[in-house]
Amino acid sequence: MAITKIWRFADWVLKLETSNSVPMYEMECVSCDATSETAEEPGGPRDWALKHAGRTHHELFRAVHTCFFRAVPKTVRE
Ligand SMILES: [Zn+2]
Repeated sequence: MAITKIWRFADWVLKLETSNSVPMYEMECVSCDATSETAEEPGGPRDWALKHAGRTHHELFRAVHTCFFRAVPKTVRE
């Protein structure tokens, strides 16, 4: 007897992926297209936003925080 179909029902969870990449931070000016450098810490992009505000009087910024998640099958302990 051969198995012709495998039906697999498993729960999955998302885990923060840090082995190949670290979280990245960036600030974008909402008033123009200016964007900070991408950095591994939020301090640099925040400083950029303050300097940009001082030069242009643009006051609203969008913070972009990028990180990666890996979907893995849920184990009994999770
Ligand atoms: Zn701007």
